[in-house]
Amino acid sequence: MLCLFASTCLGNEATAQIGLEQTLKDNSQAQIASSEQYLQLLKPQNNTEFLSERATNSIAGLPSANNVTSINSPTTIDGLAFNGYGQLVIQASRAISYRSSLSLPTNTYSITIPATRISSQLRRPILGANSPIEQIRLNQVGDAVIVNVKTIAGWQIRETVRTNASEIALQLTSVAQTSASSFPTSRSKPQNTYSNVNGRQLVVIDPGHGGPDVGATRNGVYEKDITLAMSKQLGRILQQMGYAVIYTRTEDIDLDLEPRVQIAENARASAFVSVHVNSLDANASQVSGVETYHAPGASLGKSLAEFVHDQILAGTGANDRGVRSARFYVIRNTSMPAILVETGYITNPSEASKLVNGAYQERMAEAIAKGVDQFLKSYRR
Ligand SMILES: [Zn+2]
Repeated sequence: MLCLFASTCLGNEATAQIGLEQTLKDNSQAQIASSEQYLQLLKPQNNTEFLSERATNSIAGLPSANNVTSINSPTTIDGLAFNGYGQLVIQASRAISYRSSLSLPTNTYSITIPATRISSQLRRPILGANSPIEQIRLNQVGDAVIVNVKTIAGWQIRETVRTNASEIALQLTSVAQTSASSFPTSRSKPQNTYSNVNGRQLVVIDPGHGGPDVGATRNGVYEKDITLAMSKQLGRILQQMGYAVIYTRTEDIDLDLEPRVQIAENARASAFVSVHVNSLDANASQVSGVETYHAPGASLGKSLAEFVHDQILAGTGANDRGVRSARFYVIRNTSMPAILVETGYITNPSEASKLVNGAYQERMAEAIAKGVDQFLKSYRR
């Protein structure tokens, strides 16, 4: 489905949050003057009973010894949440400073926030079974809160973003596992090396829609699910080819169009690929095939679109509906070569059955990756 303007694709924000697991440890007798709180969030092991059972285990039982009784209420760490930018946001009650570091051996990003307390009402994010985050731990050490975020293999947090003075956003990035040890470990690394880490070009992949915005739908099948599955395949294949990859979303979350563009701009991507599924009304169910879009007048975008479109036709045998130009928000507002691929019509019964098929999704992803690779090899900045 096509989105011409950011406002047309806004949905309601999904705000429900439950905690999965918490462990409280009172180390007050252990050492000196620092009482330590220890909170842990773990991914569920494909066990929803576990999830809901743990969710009832409220955090209200924090030891009262850990509540600061100062007259001026301290700055508190109030919550962690995914913001729809593919970022995990740490939210405080007022302005905070911090320092951060990445431990490569443990794949853990650590943020130390001085002069803060963990709120007794801490809001915690849902970590889905497919979440790139394995574990989040909060420790109260003296008057500082230390947040440790451990990612699964193939994913890292490589930079932080200040959205406002009381928030720190952590950008999750998909990385090639083989070269994980060669990534910068300090956030002092200049950002302009980001798009070309160790000579590897960066591709931003944008799975269309998400959350309450399901995109095109037919017979209970949602565009948002097909685009996410294809995009993850595409990212995996591009990484195998040696590219760095950032996704605009990796979960089923609501995400406006502007932040999708911003992620690509901030990352200084070499190419931007938005993945969509098309639809028409019931009396046009015979229409099927692939359309690949670039922004009007974008010659590099057009070239990228042609490489990708040719590969899709060759790799999938899909009906050729042409390389086209259109003023879609995400390809019009990105400064790098950008395309939007309509990978097929969910309203055509035969094509719909292919679009939900994992093997076909992989063939589509492979074809898009080949086209991107050909384009980037033919064009070096
Ligand atoms: Zn769409």
